[in-house]
Amino acid sequence: MSNPPAGVPAILNPDVLACPACLCRLEPRRGGSQLACPTCAAHYASAAGIWNLLPRDTADAEVKDRERDGWRAVIEENRWFMDADTILGLPESHRDEPYWAKIVEAMEVADAVLAPLKGKVGLDIACGVGWAAARFARRGARMVALDYNDTIYNGLEAAVQLRGRGVEFDAVRGDGESLPVVADSLDFVFMCSALHHFPRPDLVLDGICRALKPGGVFVDICESFRTGFGDADREESHDRHVQFREAGINERVFTQREYEDMFCRAGLVMETHLARFDKPVPGRPPADWINSAAAVPGHPAGALRRAALSLVASTPLVHALRYWRLYFRVVNRVFVARKPA
Ligand SMILES: [Zn+2]
Repeated sequence: MSNPPAGVPAILNPDVLACPACLCRLEPRRGGSQLACPTCAAHYASAAGIWNLLPRDTADAEVKDRERDGWRAVIEENRWFMDADTILGLPESHRDEPYWAKIVEAMEVADAVLAPLKGKVGLDIACGVGWAAARFARRGARMVALDYNDTIYNGLEAAVQLRGRGVEFDAVRGDGESLPVVADSLDFVFMCSALHHFPRPDLVLDGICRALKPGGVFVDICESFRTGFGDADREESHDRHVQFREAGINERVFTQREYEDMFCRAGLVMETHLARFDKPVPGRPPADWINSAAAVPGHPAGALRRAALSLVASTPLVHALRYWRLYFRVVNRVFVARKPA
């Protein structure tokens, strides 16, 4: 195949991108300037380096448009605009801010779960400014960055500026509830602080489970929580939720149990790590001693360490503590979900 025309980036992951109408693998046409569906004959184009793979009728488009416009409003109001160099330093460069500090903490667990990244095919859903896709790409993953928002305000226009600065990834405008991704094509999916924004998070999870290879992993960090006490308002006061909602951003909160039910219904096997406690040993996935009841058995931590930790975890006090933190406290946690092999 010849190189695509100037301004159209070469596709890094031709085996991943699918027709949003029928989910068949798309084929490059016209020297790579178009993607065509061999089944339903639909054609898709790229503009400004972003492939538009939105379905013809996006469900709840008005909610998603309002969210996109809301980001512009809050970014302008709070002067949160970031240039490309700043984005490439995230999240570590902003660790003095509470939101990004949580992400730094969660990424320790995420990195341990996903390592080694070299050669893995990954999808960053609701990629926003693209910091995570760029971070994984820099470590050797072949990334697709997907968002509905194609603006420079927390959207793809910001993300595509990162390309060429030592990182490459495919940029796709798409709907996370209708993933334009070939079934069984991804080693991992990543999401940061996004699942709770979708009108239909169940559809997002169904799509993730379909798109992952058997045994593939979904890492989801910094979701929004309320506890079992019906105290959504109390949690909101910490998180600028009121301001965000007034701007049109679809901020929702769920309990740990509600997330667990959603993941399980999608067919994913999930465990929950408390980012502050489940510190990974370098080169190893985090130990699983403060996990949810939905934990994966046979976690590949060292056998001796696992035996020692399970002894500690079996004490009634630790049991009670872990249960308390998972279900009755709003703490920083990382969901790690696998598609059964
Ligand atoms: Zn098609």
